[in-house]
Amino acid sequence: MYNIGTPEHSVVTTCAYCGVGCTFKAEMRGDELVRMVPYKDGKANRGHSCVKGRFAYGYAVHQDRILKPMIRSSIHEPWKEVSYEEAIAYAASEFKRIQEKYGKRSVGGITSSRCTNEETYLVQKLIRGGFGNNNVDTCARVCHSPTGYGLSVTYGTSAGTQDFDSVEETDVVLIIGANPTDGHPVFGSRLKKRLRQGAKLIVVDPRRTDVVRSPHIEAAYHLPLRPGTNVAIVTAMAHVIVTEGLVNEQFVRERCDWDEFQEWAAFVAEERHSPEAVEKYTGVSAEAVRGAARLYATGGNGAIYYGLGVTEHSQGSTTVIAIANLAMATGNIGRNGVGVNPLRGQNNVQGSCDMGSFPHELPGYRHISDDATRAAFEALWGVGLDEEPGLRIPNMFDAAVEGTYKGMYVQGEDILQSDPDTKHVSAGLAALECLVVQDLFLNETANYAHVFLPGCSFLEKDGTFTNAERRIQRIRKVMAPKNGYADWEVTQMLSNALGFPMNYQHPSEIMDEIAALTPSFAGVNYKLLDELGSVQWPCNEKAPEGTPIMHIGGFVRGKGKFMLTEYVPTDEKTGPRFPLLLTTGRILSQYNVGAQTRRTENSVWHSEDVLEVHPHDAELRGIRDGDFVKLDSRAGSTSLRAVISDRVSPGVVYTTFHHPVTQANVVTTDYSDWATNCPEYKVTAVQISPSNGP
Ligand code: SF4
Repeated sequence: MYNIGTPEHSVVTTCAYCGVGCTFKAEMRGDELVRMVPYKDGKANRGHSCVKGRFAYGYAVHQDRILKPMIRSSIHEPWKEVSYEEAIAYAASEFKRIQEKYGKRSVGGITSSRCTNEETYLVQKLIRGGFGNNNVDTCARVCHSPTGYGLSVTYGTSAGTQDFDSVEETDVVLIIGANPTDGHPVFGSRLKKRLRQGAKLIVVDPRRTDVVRSPHIEAAYHLPLRPGTNVAIVTAMAHVIVTEGLVNEQFVRERCDWDEFQEWAAFVAEERHSPEAVEKYTGVSAEAVRGAARLYATGGNGAIYYGLGVTEHSQGSTTVIAIANLAMATGNIGRNGVGVNPLRGQNNVQGSCDMGSFPHELPGYRHISDDATRAAFEALWGVGLDEEPGLRIPNMFDAAVEGTYKGMYVQGEDILQSDPDTKHVSAGLAALECLVVQDLFLNETANYAHVFLPGCSFLEKDGTFTNAERRIQRIRKVMAPKNGYADWEVTQMLSNALGFPMNYQHPSEIMDEIAALTPSFAGVNYKLLDELGSVQWPCNEKAPEGTPIMHIGGFVRGKGKFMLTEYVPTDEKTGPRFPLLLTTGRILSQYNVGAQTRRTENSVWHSEDVLEVHPHDAELRGIRDGDFVKLDSRAGSTSLRAVISDRVSPGVVYTTFHHPVTQANVVTTDYSDWATNCPEYKVTAVQISPSNGP
């Protein structure tokens, strides 16, 4: 599949897989990509890459790509290829018809963390200006929305605090619910290098991930907690820090609200939050929790890295707040080597959130109900804006099933495969009268679409991505769009057909508009990005070249805010029918639902999702290594192969979600985070039994 030969020219661009944001030289011969070479001046990767970024670009030229727009009047009809003009005209007329019949708020759309900042900005602009409502959400809803909420209320900014370089000055690494070696491999390598140099490691994870024990690395503490008990563990660590006098009082007095701190300290000091009290339901020894807390508080620079194992819970936002509390109490914020660092799964999760893809926020995290903010956007966009927040993704499916939500535009996201409770999602999609899908492939969601608009791969785009360290980086077009149009051009055509005019000539003009309307992007433009290579927001008059480390000398919100974090068990209970807890994760060679990586040679290394089962649970059920097992939950059933492994504890099973055959989300529930509706993917009560195969 890959064309090895002599390159004629190269283009520097950014990987479109994970939130590390590695830059590459795409080496070309004519219009053919010869190879991807990690770019030595890339500030996020410094010349390194993983197998996905380096080798898994074959999907861009895969035969499955759809290159012509298609329409159909019903999902039971065959697709008909049409011109872009016809497809756009059909979609626009359907959206208008639906709004006339069911009301202005009966349509909406979903932006993608796979797409550029400019594309997501344009989709939310189309929905707010063209549809006239705020029914816009992003797939970040289902991954890091609790990060946005938790860090915003405590620190004042919906983003991680450090740059990746900061890890080089870290003395204690606390990883919670993340698997950086598989999920964020290039940063995972930097982290392991620091650990090999002597930094201490604490891992809070139900599963023994690779980083817990690997050559020359042995975690000081692995806390293999029962899925769903993050809040109890982190609050128990806070209990130890407060009751053993390990608080950095000088930092807290100078930088945080002292009254709120005292209330919090009294709360966590209660005996019911002690490691001994929570041991029985977290499954983690009190001694280990005490040791981990002491090490984090006294071991020097302590840095927290966390992932979806924190956010994808009914208490995802509470855990983010608990983590933020822990860092403030120990003074581990606002300098090199410390901080709170969400590891973003997709390439542009940070950017899609920054760009106003949430139903309550305009770009720059400003609430839609704020009159002054709305007025600024109305003046530049030339349209009145709805001040009512719109529907979140799960509410869109609910409203579709109820019959009040009838039309949807989905860009770059396979919601049927990636969202929880597949039965409910498919019922919602089936109830829509107009579903427009813009994507590279006829994905699972497209089975319910009426209009299919071919999308571009990252190799065919100009624009920017923002990585997990707030770094805005250019992606540059290395070949012409195979389908004829860039994604932003298609959105612009749809907006014009809806009667909300747009007339951009190049994505740089969209960035100029973003910068004019978004204080944290003030001064960002393509010339600056070309000169500096990248810029970490906030970028403004005070910091014209960006801000690698946040909250130096003071929190963005003023005083850091301590908040109480009461552990509330999830409603997803085990019992005699479903006695095991399923949790999920990723592997190195695959990426999310696999739409890209399954269409590359990476699939050779991992061709199916498997279920890790502890030997004790396997023996009880007569399951041997390699057997197929049926996996049942209250939501549904699927079948997959078992791998017997002591990486998981008794009572816990684990799988990945890269393959549509498995459809892991058939079994996941519709419980979600109390603050953001981020689905609780990481805790599902299940039963397993021997099976003959899928
Ligand atoms: Fe791409 Fe992430 Fe791998 Fe870097 S670590 S090459 S951004 S998948």
